[in-house]
Amino acid sequence: MEIVSTIAAARERRSADREAGRSVALVPTMGYLHEGHLSLVRRAREIGDSVWVSVFVNPAQFGPGEDLERYPRDLERDAALLEAEGVDVVFAPPAEDMYPRPSVVTIRFSGLEDRLCGATRPGHFSGVGLVVAKLFNIVDPAVAVFGQKDAQQALLIRRLAAELDFPVQIEVSPTVREADGLAMSSRNVYLSAAERQAAPVLHRALVAAHDAVAEGENDPLVVEGQMREMIEAEPLASLEYAVCVGLEDLERPSRIDRTVLLATAVRFGSTRLIDNLLVER
Ligand code: AMP
Repeated sequence: MEIVSTIAAARERRSADREAGRSVALVPTMGYLHEGHLSLVRRAREIGDSVWVSVFVNPAQFGPGEDLERYPRDLERDAALLEAEGVDVVFAPPAEDMYPRPSVVTIRFSGLEDRLCGATRPGHFSGVGLVVAKLFNIVDPAVAVFGQKDAQQALLIRRLAAELDFPVQIEVSPTVREADGLAMSSRNVYLSAAERQAAPVLHRALVAAHDAVAEGENDPLVVEGQMREMIEAEPLASLEYAVCVGLEDLERPSRIDRTVLLATAVRFGSTRLIDNLLVER
């Protein structure tokens, strides 16, 4: 496994893959890896000849007052985990290499970036779009693998790739959970013992709402109310949103007559957790 830490070195390594006729599968991450990330790596291993994982805590997607400085980092541990998965290349550039000066290019996702997580994280998805576009240009992957855990991000990346004609196939992999249902996240390490115990309420509320829809409930307001009620009953949880929306527009339909996304964001102290489930119709 090769660790490359500059854009120039990444391009050089990419040329070697190209000359050898190896297709590249890329897994973009912010590091501090867990089983969720590793499931994407395994998916990439199945698809690509050469598996690249980027490890970059992207300053552009953090707002003022968010957790950029305290975001957990451990490249040595990440590299050991990735080596054990048979990864070919880890691309871990410093922020100065990715952003040598303040960027004047902005990517906007009209009508989609202000919904769900975007409502409380203005500029977040612009930052995600910018870094992913840069990674696609640097690594030129045939396939890029993202997690369903970040459902809104996956949707926007699909649109980014399609509309800017990146020749990349976007793969979305299922959410990996702890035994009690909590979606794995690098941010789970912030939780106190009591918060960790309370955190599976996101998944429980989503499952209850999922079951209600699967059993025929077709009023999204009823479904949202049910999720809200369950989450608000947990004293340590502070609900940000709990929604039942369409997959493409992230808008609440007047009735549930097609596949919907149930999604929630909840704060436990200063830690913000998200989760979602699809209900197929
Ligand atoms: P992050 O390092 O949090 O930016 O995540 C990198 C990638 O891993 C994103 O595509 C996430 O959606 C995905 N991911 C994060 N947590 C999970 C999880 N629990 N299961 C599956 N994928 C995940």
